[in-house]
Amino acid sequence: MRNQPFDAIIIGAGSVGTPLAWQLAEAGMDILVVDQYASVGQGSNKNAIGGIRATHSDPAKIRICLKSIEIFSEWHSRYGDDIGWLQGGYAFMAYRDREEKTLKDLLSVQKPYGLDIDWYDRDDLLEIIPALNPDGLLGGTFSPGDGSASPLLSALAFERRAREFGAVFKYDEPVLEILVEGSRVRGVRTPKDTYFGGMVINAAGGWAREISALAGVDVPVTPDCHEAGITEPVAPFLKPMVVDIRPVEGSANYYFYQHHTGQIIFCITPNPPIVGTDTRETSVFLPQVTRRMLEIMPCLKNIKVRRTWRGQYPNTPDGAPIVGEVEGLQGYLLAVGMCGQGYMLGPGLAVYLRQLITSQMDNDTRMIMEQLKLDRDFGKKEALK
Ligand SMILES: Cc1cc2nc3c(=O)[nH]c(=O)nc-3n(C[C@H](O)[C@H](O)[C@H](O)COP(=O)(O)OP(=O)(O)OC[C@H]3O[C@@H](n4cnc5c(N)ncnc54)[C@H](O)[C@@H]3O)c2cc1C
Repeated sequence: MRNQPFDAIIIGAGSVGTPLAWQLAEAGMDILVVDQYASVGQGSNKNAIGGIRATHSDPAKIRICLKSIEIFSEWHSRYGDDIGWLQGGYAFMAYRDREEKTLKDLLSVQKPYGLDIDWYDRDDLLEIIPALNPDGLLGGTFSPGDGSASPLLSALAFERRAREFGAVFKYDEPVLEILVEGSRVRGVRTPKDTYFGGMVINAAGGWAREISALAGVDVPVTPDCHEAGITEPVAPFLKPMVVDIRPVEGSANYYFYQHHTGQIIFCITPNPPIVGTDTRETSVFLPQVTRRMLEIMPCLKNIKVRRTWRGQYPNTPDGAPIVGEVEGLQGYLLAVGMCGQGYMLGPGLAVYLRQLITSQMDNDTRMIMEQLKLDRDFGKKEALK
């Protein structure tokens, strides 16, 4: 057992905990990261398909993801690791008046935040995505600054950077207990050891609620199951992430893009949601999603699917993360409830949490922490989740 306490202990080496370890270690803090799995990013992180966008409708998410895009896009030139960053943009399709109106209404929220996004009429959109089915296409929004990267390559890169600044990663160690003395957290216990820290940060993704219960704090994070798939690689023909938000029987939106190595990666949102932590693939997913993809991109007809998988979205009642300090329990911090966007939120959130933790908050950080605090009204829902 190490007698000297860490400055902070992060529970979870996932999309959020790993970049946070890098940011805090870079700020000079003595950091321990504990994860139940054998290596970095093995929870939801590795299930993400890698989409990264700042074009949300919630101000906190917009700010955080703009910061994330800065980090993802500059990573290779700054630190040398290729994390598969591809700035292909995001395109939201409208094949019906209803989606055209929703997307155009959203622009009036998004543009004042300085987001680079616009409405493109049918022919202009077809120039950007020639493979789209033109029949019935009305147009769509396109945001060229958004993109994608590899969740596993980036988790490894963040971990490497964090280690360079002295962060310690302990794997195969599930946290069994959060040590609390009076109104202060003191550390965590795993089957192998007890670790003390001035701060314990819950970044446990889909497990956040049960981890938080160890500290006596209820956080409304409920995991639900989402499937994704990947095809064989083909020659480059599709740049943006294509998103179709039309709900149909059994599913809400679905989205896909061409990976920087040529494969098409795709994902769908089941409706109603499938609550739980079951990660077994289903026989429903492929016929459901491919039928919809072929409708808007018929040229995918002969492409071979190589693999499917299933993971979790750590959801909150209003679709926004829960972040920050918890009243009444000193030294306990939340970085949880990332829903379907934890990969894109992770690095930006780490920068803002660093500012909070090192007492260097600016106005953006204050706004973000206020919006994402645990003690908020969860009744409001974001327009574009
Ligand atoms: C199919 C699919 C596609 C997705 N696509 C995207 C996408 O394109 N873009 C995007 O931004 N997001 C996407 N997501 C969502 C994204 O994967 C999650 O929001 C994100 O990974 C959550 O990050 P996290 O750090 O909160 O959780 P995780 O990455 O799961 O990290 C939490 C960590 O906590 C650890 N942990 C839990 N309990 C304990 C314990 N008791 N002791 C120690 N460690 C513990 C876990 O092992 C895990 O490593 C997708 C998700 C799925 C399922």
